Amino acid sequence: MTAAFAAWFAAHRDEFIALRRDLHAHPELAFAENRTAAIVADRLEAWGLKVTRGVARTGVVATLHGGPAAAIGLRADMDALPMQEANGFAHRSTIPGVMHACGHDGHTVILLAAARYLSETATALSGPIHFIFQPAEENEGGGRAMVEDGLFERFPVAAVFGLHNAPGIEVGHIHVRGGPITAGFDVFDFVVRAQGGHGAWPARGGDAITAAAALATQLPGIVSRHIDAADSVVLAVTRIEGGTAYNILPTEVRVSGSVRWFSHAAQGEIRRRLEMHRQGLTLSYGVEVELDYQCRYPPVINDNDAAQVAIGAARAWAGEDQVITEFAPVMGSEDFAFMLEARPGAYLLLGNGAGEGGCHVHSPRYDFNDEAIVHGAGLWVTLCQRFFTDQGTSAD
Ligand SMILES: [Zn+2]
Ligand SMILES: [Zn+2]
Repeated sequence: MTAAFAAWFAAHRDEFIALRRDLHAHPELAFAENRTAAIVADRLEAWGLKVTRGVARTGVVATLHGGPAAAIGLRADMDALPMQEANGFAHRSTIPGVMHACGHDGHTVILLAAARYLSETATALSGPIHFIFQPAEENEGGGRAMVEDGLFERFPVAAVFGLHNAPGIEVGHIHVRGGPITAGFDVFDFVVRAQGGHGAWPARGGDAITAAAALATQLPGIVSRHIDAADSVVLAVTRIEGGTAYNILPTEVRVSGSVRWFSHAAQGEIRRRLEMHRQGLTLSYGVEVELDYQCRYPPVINDNDAAQVAIGAARAWAGEDQVITEFAPVMGSEDFAFMLEARPGAYLLLGNGAGEGGCHVHSPRYDFNDEAIVHGAGLWVTLCQRFFTDQGTSAD
């Protein structure tokens, strides 16, 4: 089956690369993926899949019908980032300030290629396959929006799988295992308020600047002194805003940052400690302090059984030595976590190469490596076949 897919893809390779470059040249931001979603839905319909548009606004779900076995879900993200592309190649972004700098153009085409191949060749699928094209992975939680829009009630699956390209990993190599893969991601905003006034008389009005500066230097210490060293957490102060002139003490200074975590225990302790700092600062500096803590993305935790199916598929497709099952989780975050909270499944990393195409994601010179399309699509095709075979075996 592996060879059959590789041969089929070779005949369609140029078409899929052209499509990937077309998407790259026309990037769209979160929940505005109208052109992309229309192309995706039109192609899937033309290939004979049953297509549902407008799931969580710009999301698309395509279904390939099969037998009575429980369905599998495969997910790709479609959105781009609000940044200016610095590449000069022909397929560079045509939209100022918007760029496919995370390779979601590649993920979309990978899933399209798999859907087309399976729709043309799979004559007796044991169960349905739902191809999920989600909006707004970057910052806006499109994965959560799809789950809240009834994704898994409307398209029930026994397991759901997602992948992301990984610059720095050789093309064709796949990283997958059970357990934590990407960190949870929360953000916090402190607002420090004082009466303010003339810079010559800080004693009269309180000093929001000094209080905010103390906060910014104290907060990272929460991790080193109150979180078990074996439980990975990053707390980063990433923004301080306040003040307008040499001789004015501002009335308000903001201190913001992010927290990356894997365990709910660590997340809870961080929240508790931030609140203690809020109270402590109020007392020691005589200022008013407000704290807003927002939970953004939970961690991606791969289900062990689903990961085993994915490992089997990856080895069958790519070969034993191309599949890495021991690697450290990354502190970045991914909203596929919302789908994994709702259903078991696994998230895989697909090598994007270390060379010219391997430039890091979210860099203005990044580009998805077209040579990875065949590897991602071949992996999805093999995974569907393995998923139904394994299910059949375990159901007996
Ligand atoms: Zn990204
Ligand atoms: Zn991404």
